[in-house]
Amino acid sequence: MDEFDVVVIGGGPVGENVADRAVRGGLTAALVESEKFGGECSYWACMPSKALLRPGQALREAQHVRGALAGEAALDPSEVFARRDAVVGHWDDAGQVRWAQGAGITTIRGQGRLAGQRRVTVTGPDGAETTLSAKHAVVLAPGTDAAVPDIPGLRAARPWTSREATSAKAAPRRLAVIGGGVVAAEMATAYASLGSQVTLLARSGLLTGLEPFAGEAVGDGLRVLGVEVVSGESPTRVTRADGEVTIETSAGRTVVADEVLAATGRTPRTVDLGLETVGLEPGSWLAVDDTLRVEGFDWLYAAGDVNHRALLTHQGKYQARAVGDAIAARARGAADDDAPWGAHVATADHTAVPQVIFTEPEVAAIGVTEAQARKAGTDVAVVDYDLGWVAGASLYADGYAGRARMVVDEGRGVVIGMTLVGPAVAELLHAATIAVVGEVPIARLWHAVPAYPTISEVWLRLLEAYRDR
Ligand SMILES: Cc1cc2nc3c(=O)[nH]c(=O)nc-3n(C[C@H](O)[C@H](O)[C@H](O)COP(=O)(O)OP(=O)(O)OC[C@H]3O[C@@H](n4cnc5c(N)ncnc54)[C@H](O)[C@@H]3O)c2cc1C
Repeated sequence: MDEFDVVVIGGGPVGENVADRAVRGGLTAALVESEKFGGECSYWACMPSKALLRPGQALREAQHVRGALAGEAALDPSEVFARRDAVVGHWDDAGQVRWAQGAGITTIRGQGRLAGQRRVTVTGPDGAETTLSAKHAVVLAPGTDAAVPDIPGLRAARPWTSREATSAKAAPRRLAVIGGGVVAAEMATAYASLGSQVTLLARSGLLTGLEPFAGEAVGDGLRVLGVEVVSGESPTRVTRADGEVTIETSAGRTVVADEVLAATGRTPRTVDLGLETVGLEPGSWLAVDDTLRVEGFDWLYAAGDVNHRALLTHQGKYQARAVGDAIAARARGAADDDAPWGAHVATADHTAVPQVIFTEPEVAAIGVTEAQARKAGTDVAVVDYDLGWVAGASLYADGYAGRARMVVDEGRGVVIGMTLVGPAVAELLHAATIAVVGEVPIARLWHAVPAYPTISEVWLRLLEAYRDR
């Protein structure tokens, strides 16, 4: 049996970072990966999806600057797919393995399973089983799979999930998308750009956890791209015959497509993880404390998607840094730095999760929405500003349309939420993240002067609107 200080199951972005931090903290770490080092994010999620979206966005940005293009311009779908292939390294994880090994991490290929207290068995590609023991900690970072909803006939119709949508070699002529969340909205945008005739079936509307104007703007943007956006009705039956998929809805509508993408959420990869050997329920999300320790254990941690705190790569990697550092500190007998905002806790998960949705228009959000703040009983002031009135925005694109909302906690005089919708707002988000995490008093924000003429001047306009309300 091989012994390591830390054994990490799952070599995605989160597991890799846990192992890296543990090694930097002076520990030995084994990283067990059953598929590809780099995880979902590198090969079937963040990177390929953004690679499919970026060319259409770049084209339309140029089209909205008078004089930037002479004559007609169009995407070249085969080149877009070829660039996506390069972005994902042609699904070869050799580079990620080299990085991990260079960082001093022991990489092990195979399916990892807990085998009781501080033990992990690994079934290698050849079926051989080895057992690893962990002196200090086992960290579970197996991520999630796409959830396929229980719609009669859907599974038999061989739907696309995010995996097929991000790795397809060509755009289907007609694509139906079931779902109204981020993956549904982004993939509908990408495939509409690539020439598919897209129908989006979003039962409850689009991007419902965000400020309502975000989903409305994204819906309008999708319609401009030619997407048929259907809400208020549910798919009731799906059939595949003669190469076509037919979707019937509760309103009696029939949608016919060449492929159907199920984008209705995620399910934790915990069914075959040996959870039962330590008294946990297979198939469940793993509840953790703020140092990412699984509730009831002092040696078992769960980081990234699998703990269901924030299903985003950057937030999982933030958790990974806290976990790796906490394990290393505990191993050398140092005190935990686990007060809120300490080095060993993922405090931001509760109040300050930034997210960008790469639709057209883009959506960038941090903290709480107005509705969430009011529901929590916070005394808030809410100010909106039309981004089209900002000088930098009107220069950025002809006819720039967008909106910003700032939610201020009146009791503390700090920003607790910001939502930006419009072209190129993604890069504005980090300023808002710093304001929220740093709890920068509104009075001090007046001294953070945005450069002229940039879209960031929206900050000044929001502060003025707040003062004059
Ligand atoms: C289409 C799509 C687009 C997305 N875009 C973004 C984005 O733009 N930005 C963003 O922040 N987030 C995005 N996300 C979310 C992001 O992909 C996840 O939050 C992130 O991948 C989670 O990282 P993770 O390490 O927890 O899990 P994963 O990336 O899923 O990695 C887990 C790894 O563990 C391995 N594994 C699982 N079980 C075992 C086992 N028993 N033994 C060994 N190995 C195992 C898996 O093979 C996998 O490699 C997107 C998601 C999707 C679906």
